[in-house]
Amino acid sequence: MALAAQFDYVVMGAGVAGLRAAVELAGQGNVLVVTKESVSESNTHYAQGGIAVAMDGEEDVALHFDDTVAAGDGLVHRAAAEVLVAEGPMRVAELIESGARFDREGGVLLRTREAAHSRPRILHANGDGTGAEISRSLAAMARTHSSIRFAEWTTVTGLVTEDGRVAGVDLLDCDNQPRRVNTRGVLVAAGGAGQVYSDTTNPAVATGDGIALAAEAGAELADMEFYQFHPTALSLPGVPRFLLSEALRGEGAFLRNVHGERFMERYHASLELAPRDVVARAIARESIGEPAGESRPVYLDIRHVTNIDLHHRFPGISAFLARQGLDLCRDLIPVRPAAHYLMGGIRADLNGRTTVPGLYAAGEAACTGVHGANRLASNSLLEGLVFGTRAAQSMLEDGIPLEASDAPATTPTRLDEGDAEEVEMLIARLQRSMWSFAGLLREESTIREGMAAQKECAANVDRLTQQGKGSRRLSEAHALCRVSDAILRSALARTESRGAHFRNDYPKRDDAHFNKHSILGRDGEAGVVFEAW
Ligand SMILES: Cc1cc2nc3c(=O)[nH]c(=O)nc-3n(C[C@H](O)[C@H](O)[C@H](O)COP(=O)(O)OP(=O)(O)OC[C@H]3O[C@@H](n4cnc5c(N)ncnc54)[C@H](O)[C@@H]3O)c2cc1C
Repeated sequence: MALAAQFDYVVMGAGVAGLRAAVELAGQGNVLVVTKESVSESNTHYAQGGIAVAMDGEEDVALHFDDTVAAGDGLVHRAAAEVLVAEGPMRVAELIESGARFDREGGVLLRTREAAHSRPRILHANGDGTGAEISRSLAAMARTHSSIRFAEWTTVTGLVTEDGRVAGVDLLDCDNQPRRVNTRGVLVAAGGAGQVYSDTTNPAVATGDGIALAAEAGAELADMEFYQFHPTALSLPGVPRFLLSEALRGEGAFLRNVHGERFMERYHASLELAPRDVVARAIARESIGEPAGESRPVYLDIRHVTNIDLHHRFPGISAFLARQGLDLCRDLIPVRPAAHYLMGGIRADLNGRTTVPGLYAAGEAACTGVHGANRLASNSLLEGLVFGTRAAQSMLEDGIPLEASDAPATTPTRLDEGDAEEVEMLIARLQRSMWSFAGLLREESTIREGMAAQKECAANVDRLTQQGKGSRRLSEAHALCRVSDAILRSALARTESRGAHFRNDYPKRDDAHFNKHSILGRDGEAGVVFEAW
């Protein structure tokens, strides 16, 4: 039976952005935090390397800004980057004060260096367990507030709009029971969409639901062509693309091709610490074998680094590798790129407001332009803290009244076994086609092939939805189709190469035409427009 309910604020997502926002909203009204699985299952939880933050005063902050801008390949929204680096130290200090335990030596915080950072400024926790510690400490903080309620194992399947503003959410619990919640404002902090691709470091919850729902509610999306592919995910058949953190290269790991050559010398002066897109494409090129099409292994090699205890510094990675019979100290580790982080997302201003009243966005689901065309390593946990806080403050400031509506959510028919199998098959096919046609390297002909595959998938998903069927998985399939469509259309429109977006048919950066952000959904138009911020 459908229940009506109301909360002052609804936060979609329990990663760093959603939890930080919920803490900010607490005490100012009641808050519902909705998450598809347990509170600890998010991209945030899996973050390994750390959180970038300039703790050494103004000069350090200025350098962090410069590094962020340089990594973004001409497209960073400078005002957003200024906010990130300037407010970051305060947000991290608060986090430490409230109980987050970062690694220290002799009481002093340890800092490591990662690719494209000009100095060591990455704090980490439990070696390579930074995200889990941030998630744990924020969740613990949130649970001290009686005004925050968690709805775990619950999926937001729709945003309710009234008179042009978002006024509620439709939820589906794990028993497929629907519920409608009215609210003053919804914060989408639902993370990225790595599951669009067959090869991804992201967990199963990262299906871009928030982005798809926001677009359907009329919000503009921005920069959807910029998907960051992490260069070094584990490459073993039948094993998930487990991330091998950038911090390994920060501690001195080399990349070697099948001949044992340290090939980054041929691609970038910063070698293994070049920006992620450069390293990822270099690995892709080195792995193309003869005859063409055959794949050759590329390896991460940290065997020569003996001045640190690798198992102690990287306990999570070491344990995962041990289960595969590999050891950082002894073995070459096979790696390949995998979809990792979406720079684009729901267009949001510096205060988390989207283009739709009542709808806010923060974290990986949002696009403030802070990462430009390529995110600087370890800047996204910081982004979640800084912009999650700001978005919550806007929700409070806007003071939108709560209007009760009794309209119940409609109860969907459960998918039968055949439908469920079909949904899985459609998702897998879409993921493979996005990887092949709109992955690390793209061009017009492949993007168009991707569009044809997306269209077919979307038609089948729509057919099931129109039959009144519903489930978390069907809702995710719908979101994946919607997000794929946005990636494909934006990738087709940007006829240049920049940051994470590389077009074989337009291999050069074209500042004269494209030093701009791509926008989808302007005034209900289907086309992509470009705009300078
Ligand atoms: C393996 C890995 C390692 C990484 N390492 C680092 C690192 O070292 N440093 C760094 O800065 N960044 C790192 N990142 C990136 C970073 O972790 C993420 O960008 C960041 O944590 C995103 O936070 P978020 O709060 O926006 O979303 P997430 O942490 O992804 O949380 C999203 C939340 O939304 C919920 N959700 C999604 N859809 C729905 C729905 N329909 N209904 C209800 N709830 C929903 C999910 O259940 C989840 O709770 C890493 C990412 C991965 C995958």
